[in-house]
Amino acid sequence: MKNASSANHERSYRLLPSVDQLMEKDEVKGLISNYSREFILHNIRELLAVIREEISQGKADPQGVKKRVEGLIDELRQRLEEQLSPTLRRVINATGVIIHTNLGRALLCPSAVERLQELSCRYLNLEFFLEEGKRGGRDLPVERLISRLFPGKSCVVANNNAAAVLLVLNTLAEGKEVIVSRGELVEIGGSFRIPEVMEKSGAILKEVGTTNKTRLQDYEKAISPHTALLLAVHQSNFRILGFTESVRMEELVALGRRHGIPVMEDMGSGNMVDLSPYGIPDEPSVGEILARGANIVTFSGDKLLGGPQSGVIVGDRALIKKIKVNPLLRAVRAGKLTYLALEATLVEYLKGRPEVSIPVLKMLSTSVAELQGRAEAIIEELRRVKGSSLNVELMEGVSKVGGGTVPLVELPTRLMGVNSPRYTADTISRKLRMRSLPVIARIQEEKVVIDLRTVLPSEDRELIKALKELARGD
Ligand SMILES: *Cc1c(COP(=O)(O)O)cnc(C)c1O
Repeated sequence: MKNASSANHERSYRLLPSVDQLMEKDEVKGLISNYSREFILHNIRELLAVIREEISQGKADPQGVKKRVEGLIDELRQRLEEQLSPTLRRVINATGVIIHTNLGRALLCPSAVERLQELSCRYLNLEFFLEEGKRGGRDLPVERLISRLFPGKSCVVANNNAAAVLLVLNTLAEGKEVIVSRGELVEIGGSFRIPEVMEKSGAILKEVGTTNKTRLQDYEKAISPHTALLLAVHQSNFRILGFTESVRMEELVALGRRHGIPVMEDMGSGNMVDLSPYGIPDEPSVGEILARGANIVTFSGDKLLGGPQSGVIVGDRALIKKIKVNPLLRAVRAGKLTYLALEATLVEYLKGRPEVSIPVLKMLSTSVAELQGRAEAIIEELRRVKGSSLNVELMEGVSKVGGGTVPLVELPTRLMGVNSPRYTADTISRKLRMRSLPVIARIQEEKVVIDLRTVLPSEDRELIKALKELARGD
């Protein structure tokens, strides 16, 4: 028995072509025009190793091996193609979470995309003053707009807001004390913790007050000759409700002035407009925080601002000047693609209709009536599928802003609730996710719920296609 099997193994191994033999085949030679020789070689070796392993484990008899060898080139071609297909792909966000951290946060506005398309493959005057023909600074284009949006202020752009905070603390408070309320020592999603960032910056954290109450005297008592900064941190992703007290920015600024200590707010969201018309009454804008007297404000470019990933530092000229000469800036500065997209995004605010041009704000301001109209049209179309295995109904629900901003805000919306006598909600959700154009939806009370607030109207057709496939049981 044993001998027969080892003889079989021997015969199987002998059916395998060598790497060189395969490389000499015309079909493989043809692949060299699309893939590097090393990449092909590597994959051939891996394929042969897989088959050898199968033979040694007795999983493939000579008959099976012969078949495998015949299909080897096709298998190779498929492998090569698969390995080079991009891992990052487009998805349809049907979760209703507008700034979805796992799905890429803010979508860029069309004008930003245009700029990237036009200039990312060409030379540009990134750090070059055309008039003088000399080297210049890369912050100029954004700074020009920031000084229009916030007169008298200047800015620096870092790679993200975490880097922005690190850079400011390191510049203004290395080896010195920074006073922060205990109620604001937060962890923002993705493990951004103020105490840890502060430690890395070399600043010394001086906590004051308690989790729910911090008063002006608490800050005042903590001030010493070693104090370099008073820091307020936006409680981005949580709220302490009930018996609470915190110090208003105006009071903190007055205190800072009396002692000659600058005041910074890590704002996070980068909101630039009045959000109260959209049912968000308590989220101040960058402009409001600056008007209250904050000397430095930091925020993300890809939260409510609706631009590219970046960390924008806006503040008093003298402070920004210091930040600009910190060598750490060289390590955390933004790249040219960021500047291109950020400049275009800020221009939209000066044009004055950001709720139309900036996708985040557009989604935020979409009316329930519009969402209901689109949902009804989709449901109507799905009803026409004969023998459908799906039940789809209109439901009331709420969308979220996400991205660790305005955590308590619930935007009223209309959902399409999907269930089926054939599939569980998990199965429906998985089938939607596993399409070549994945649809990401939430599960709520045994139903898959689809929120059109974050689905672009131009994606409705594709969504209908996805649901029809499911309804027909494809
Ligand atoms: C989101 C957020 C950060 C981190 O910003 P990133 O752009 O993700 O680096 C820091 N602070 C606050 C208050 C935030 O909301």
